[in-house]
Amino acid sequence: GKVQIELENAPSEVKELAQTLQTTLTDLSHAWEDQRQLVSNISHELRTPLTVVSGYLQSTLRRGNNLTDIQREALETASSEAERTIQLLQDLLDLARAENGRMYFHLETVVLNELLTEIEGMVDQYPTPVKISLPDQLVKIKGDKNRLKQVFLNLVDNAVKYSHSSEPILLKLSQEKQQANIQVCDRGVGIPLTHQTRIFERFYRVDEARSRNIGGTGLGLSIVKTLVEGMEGTIKVISQPNQGTTFTILFPVS
Ligand code: ADP
Repeated sequence: GKVQIELENAPSEVKELAQTLQTTLTDLSHAWEDQRQLVSNISHELRTPLTVVSGYLQSTLRRGNNLTDIQREALETASSEAERTIQLLQDLLDLARAENGRMYFHLETVVLNELLTEIEGMVDQYPTPVKISLPDQLVKIKGDKNRLKQVFLNLVDNAVKYSHSSEPILLKLSQEKQQANIQVCDRGVGIPLTHQTRIFERFYRVDEARSRNIGGTGLGLSIVKTLVEGMEGTIKVISQPNQGTTFTILFPVS
C-alpha cells in the first residue's frame, strides 16, 4: 500500500526528507508485496505438476503387481516425498494468502463446545489419546469453522508429534469474562525458553536434527498464528523442556 506522512507546516528540508522517506517506504512495501506474490505464484505453479507426479506414482504402486521390492521401495519413497512437498507448497500458499489479507474468512457464530467435540471425533484414532474438557455453558465466538478446525488439528498434531509418552493430550475449553479460552496441553518434549518466541516464525524448528525425523515443515505454527489473529484472537505458548507444552488461544466471545 501507499505510506502517507502528514507534514503540513514543516520546514522544506523536513518535507523533502519526508517525501524521500515516503517514496522509499512505498517502494519497499511494493517490493515486499511482489515477493509475496512470487512465493504464491511459484507455489501454485509447482503444486499442479507435482500433484500429477504423485498421482502417477500412487497408481503405479497400486497396479504394480510384479514390482521388485527395490522398485516398490523406491516408488514409495518418491511418492511420500512428493506428498510432503505438495503439503509444503500448500502451506506456503496459505501463508502468502493470509499475510496479504487475501485469505477469506467465512465468519459465522461458532459454538466452540460443538467444534471441539467434532475435533475429538476426528482424532480418536491418533496414537496418543486426546481428552477433551468442556464447560457447562456454551462458548460462542465469531469465526470460520474450517479455519478453526485447521488451527486445532494443527496444534493437536504437534502435541502428538512432540510427545513420546502415552500421557493423553488435553483439549480444554473455558470462558473467562468476555474471552473464550482454548488450551492444548501435552506432556511431551517441551520447548526451551529461548525458542519459545521463535516457533511462530516461518520454517523455524527447534533442534532441526531431531525434528527432521518427525514430519513437518516448520510452517504449521506460523499458519496457526496468522489464522488466529485473522479471527481477532491471540495465541501464546507456555512450555517446560521434558515436562510438556501448553498453547493457549483467546478469542472474544460473541
Ligand atoms: P513443524 O511441526 O512442521 O516443524 P511448526 O511450525 O508446527 O512446524 O512447529 C515449529 C516447531 O515448534 C517444531 O519444529 C517443534 O520444534 C516446536 N513445537 C511445536 N509444537 C510443539 C509441541 N507441542 N511440543 C514441543 N515442541 C513443539
